[in-house]
Amino acid sequence: MGNWKMHGRISENATLLTEVAAGASALQNGVRVGVCVPCPYLAQSQALLSGSVVRWGIQDVSAHPAGAYTGEVAAEMAADFGVTYAIVGHSERRAYHRESPELVAAKAQRAIEAGLTPIVCVGETLEERESGATEQVIGTQLEAVLLVLTEKQAASIVVAYEPVWAIGTGKTARPGQAQDVHAFLRRKLQEKGAAVANVPLLYGGSVKPENAQELFAQRDIDGGLIGGASLKSKDFLAICQAAQTELH
Ligand code: PEP
Repeated sequence: MGNWKMHGRISENATLLTEVAAGASALQNGVRVGVCVPCPYLAQSQALLSGSVVRWGIQDVSAHPAGAYTGEVAAEMAADFGVTYAIVGHSERRAYHRESPELVAAKAQRAIEAGLTPIVCVGETLEERESGATEQVIGTQLEAVLLVLTEKQAASIVVAYEPVWAIGTGKTARPGQAQDVHAFLRRKLQEKGAAVANVPLLYGGSVKPENAQELFAQRDIDGGLIGGASLKSKDFLAICQAAQTELH
């Protein structure tokens, strides 16, 4: 899953989306590909990706239904543009917009109610990791979401583990480090119900063509949430190809 963040212009997007759609059509082994674009480009993504194997998504949704919330985008509005996925709780939103675990949970719920699949991001800062608080931090982030969802709803989400210290920094979690956290997340999901244990767990944080294969070979890593590298079709498609060979 690509996360373009606040990048893109109409002319560049056209090239990128067209190349990604063409490259993704050759992928096998059930690899699913998506791109989460800035809101103004949802219509363009819908126009260029409809009929391709690539799904498109939004990077955030409002916790509210439509109403007097200037600047917000309701999940239903994204659904109007054929959106499949909604990232919620990206660490940049938790950090710069002070989004609490409860707010992220409300957003996940709104996304599901609008027929979207939330990609719930969790992750610890370097300070939290070094103080041994990783499991407590991401456990709290995930539990808040699981608390407000029914078992059936919880089984329909995607979870992305993104250590904050690895996002956009060039530092990637070692595959074993990432696997340990994914195994912990899997156990937490299992507590909600047997079907919930099978939700796709994505790893995100400086995933590149060079490290994707080793990460995707880990038992509990089901895919990637890709920031910087999703802006270059060649790199993004190389990562998708690594998923094709390594995912189980
Ligand atoms: C992200 O934005 O979710 C991300 C993982 O970014 P990057 O791949 O650039 O570290």
